[in-house]
Amino acid sequence: MTRRDLLIHDEQLCLQRGVRLTPQRRRVLKIIMQSPQPLGAYEILQKMDPPAAPPTVYRALDFLLQQGLIHRLATLQAYLVCEHPDASHQGQFLICSECGHVEEMEDSNIQQSLDLAASQAGFSCSNEVVEIMGRCGQCAGAVH
Ligand SMILES: [Zn+2]
Ligand SMILES: [Zn+2]
Repeated sequence: MTRRDLLIHDEQLCLQRGVRLTPQRRRVLKIIMQSPQPLGAYEILQKMDPPAAPPTVYRALDFLLQQGLIHRLATLQAYLVCEHPDASHQGQFLICSECGHVEEMEDSNIQQSLDLAASQAGFSCSNEVVEIMGRCGQCAGAVH
């Protein structure tokens, strides 16, 4: 899906769910979508045009997270757009520590294994985002 299609898709998703993708929320989503790398809250704030107050941006980020339109990476303290926002998922990410590229994996088996292992330990998860650091194919290939 192209970025443009994804934005239209996300707009329709909000419409179906009866939640409002306000102009501010849409602006924040678009900024994150247009960035090739995950963006920190401060970077998003700086890109807001017209400028917005920090609480406005944070509220917009909360909304987008709740709707599953974006993900937050704890290791990078940054946000990135979700490529498949229809399915409810926490997300698994391959993060390249050299070029900063982040790839979202779509593997429901990982999620299921995590859920099972956690419940066997009597643990109920509130955050199951998996962040794997390493080198992407391109960076690993460049060494040879
Ligand atoms: Zn996702
Ligand atoms: Zn890389």
